[in-house]
Amino acid sequence: PFDFQGKHVTVAGLGVSGVPAAKVLHGLGATVTVVNDGADERARAQAAELEALGITVRLGDGDTLPEGTELIVTAPGWKPDKPLFAAAAQAGVPVWGDVELAWRLRGPDAAPWLAVTGTNGKTTTVQMLASILKAAGLRTAAVGNIGVSLLDAVLGEEKYDVLAVELSSYQLHWAPSLRAHSAAVLNLAPDHLDWHGSMEAYAADKGRIYEGNRVACVYNAADKATEDLVREADVEEGCRAIGFTLGTPAPSQLGVVEGILVDRAFVENRQKNAQELAEVADVNPPAPHNIANALAAAALARAYGVPAKAVRDGLRAFTPDAHRIAHVADVDGVAYVDDSKATNTHAAEASLAAYESIVWIAGGLAKGAVFDELVAKAAQRLRGAVLIGADRALIREALARHAPEVPVVDLDRTDTGAMRAAVQEARRLARPGDTVLLAPACASMDMFVNYNKRGDAFADAVRELGSAEG
Ligand code: ADP
Repeated sequence: PFDFQGKHVTVAGLGVSGVPAAKVLHGLGATVTVVNDGADERARAQAAELEALGITVRLGDGDTLPEGTELIVTAPGWKPDKPLFAAAAQAGVPVWGDVELAWRLRGPDAAPWLAVTGTNGKTTTVQMLASILKAAGLRTAAVGNIGVSLLDAVLGEEKYDVLAVELSSYQLHWAPSLRAHSAAVLNLAPDHLDWHGSMEAYAADKGRIYEGNRVACVYNAADKATEDLVREADVEEGCRAIGFTLGTPAPSQLGVVEGILVDRAFVENRQKNAQELAEVADVNPPAPHNIANALAAAALARAYGVPAKAVRDGLRAFTPDAHRIAHVADVDGVAYVDDSKATNTHAAEASLAAYESIVWIAGGLAKGAVFDELVAKAAQRLRGAVLIGADRALIREALARHAPEVPVVDLDRTDTGAMRAAVQEARRLARPGDTVLLAPACASMDMFVNYNKRGDAFADAVRELGSAEG
């Protein structure tokens, strides 16, 4: 393991990753300086806490490389084009993210990592994977971008057999030596391009997850870009490319045959050419994109050697997190579904594909997105649309271009009360058997603190409808 004793380490950024990283490095004997752009109240409180331990903190200057720095450990969100990193490159100073730090600090008999990335579905897949591993009797946790931090998982008291690790493209960018047991890229759609600089750079960072894989590189057979990344990766000898598909699987793939999830990559019985894993109905919710998530989780678990039965038990035991295609209530024969977490067009496309006749509530901050493809694909399924939020005109225009017959209510509102009005409008448009779907395809920050609050506002408004019913 890396020796930090006496090393001059600069931690870039306070916050959820920087504060624990600074403490850990200080505890390992490093001389730690934290640099942070902001100097607000929260930053000052965190700085005071670290300074009390003897850690130097520079507030309000995240761009000057402290004298003598031998290593930078950065918060994942810091953009690669920041002057701090240019200065580091010039001085030959390596830059690690929090994931790299955790990876380097693993003990000699540390748990291997099963890693997941992708534009959408990461959290769901990692949680499904952890549930499957648990059903197999393994000590595990869903870690990384969610729940337990990687540093805690690696350094804490708790012993794990294997970790289910969610990694963002930012984290992968700063994790040059990470080597997973097996890894999956679920899908690739344009997102966070302002950070990465280009789609190519974004894809390349996602593709880092396959580097050095030992057993399996899991890709999405319906998303060629993910398969290309496997081909470009430098992996250990014997590591296999394993695809997942919603159709009939080829050899070395997992897929679906007549409502059954089947595995043709890791077949236990040599007499057979496919292994039944679970039924589509075991996946919660059984929407197409979520079956894809389940197959990816199953592929990683199977790569680790988990038996078929544990896949089924683990999927059955799994319940999705809030605001991810959550069924809120039925009112007058209409289902109300909260997918507030659909914060980009790729995610909204998946949830719109899961229902037949939809009153769609959408809008918010578009983050530069284009809505034409999404609207064109969903047009046939739309009973109506209700638009809210700052960038709703972009969606309204796309609807006018690709779904001119669909009735649209443009609420022209960005106040928090707008959600209540949107739900009432949606109710007017809906007929029995329809689904009113909140899948905004936009970020929430124009109207709400975050997507959780947006989903809560939707659910509250739906419950109001229900109780007004008597
Ligand atoms: P992430 O952690 O990548 O943000 P989540 O599992 O939290 O992913 O899901 C976020 C949203 O993305 C969900 O609410 C759903 O709308 C959508 N989604 C989930 N899985 C997929 C998938 N495989 N493909 C496309 N969209 C998906």
